[in-house]
Amino acid sequence: MMDIVRLHLARIDAFNHIPVHGFVIKHPRAGAILVDTGVGFPDELVKEWKVVNRHAADAMAEHDLSPADVRIVINTHLHFDHCGQNAVFKHAPFYIQRSELERARRQEKLTAEWFDFAGARFELMDGDAEVADGVRVVATPGHTVGHQSVIVDTPDGGAIMIGDAAYTSDIYRAGAKADLSQWRGQYADRDAWAGSLEKLRAMHQHAVHFCHDTRVVEVKR
Ligand SMILES: [Zn+2]
Repeated sequence: MMDIVRLHLARIDAFNHIPVHGFVIKHPRAGAILVDTGVGFPDELVKEWKVVNRHAADAMAEHDLSPADVRIVINTHLHFDHCGQNAVFKHAPFYIQRSELERARRQEKLTAEWFDFAGARFELMDGDAEVADGVRVVATPGHTVGHQSVIVDTPDGGAIMIGDAAYTSDIYRAGAKADLSQWRGQYADRDAWAGSLEKLRAMHQHAVHFCHDTRVVEVKR
């Protein structure tokens, strides 16, 4: 039995007031696996986004969890709202696509300390990989070059933690035809993004969880 717990980590008021979610996968043997860590502190670093930020420890406490429970962190990618509080979990390894760390080291200078702090232990992956029994990452490039999504086997079927491969359930449902006029930054590479989204949709997993949308897409069989 693998439960998925959604954390409320922040809200970004300058970008459609979207929520920022992380997820804890309660793995029976590997321990708690955390997918994404929200926006870092001090959040003045990204003040143009008007973030209403929370400490990950507070968000976890709502679910009787604490940072010490986390054994593994998976970052879907290294934008500021997905890896900001990695340092809270510096006892855990960070599972990241190698190409994403290389991109972020070039492009995310402002928030580099949030993911590339001294002592950070990276488990760098090149494409699809198993992280623990029943938990795997799939490469879903396009939002960023090294973006990945997480797939978890649950009793009901597979669940996807999609990261930013689709910001919202509406975008997921519409696929490549989605109206992105309010959603700048959905892709860095449009063709790769559309291909990744199509790949995820074709998997017909039971549930899709979003970082920036509290709605869950449940796929009927
Ligand atoms: Zn992003």
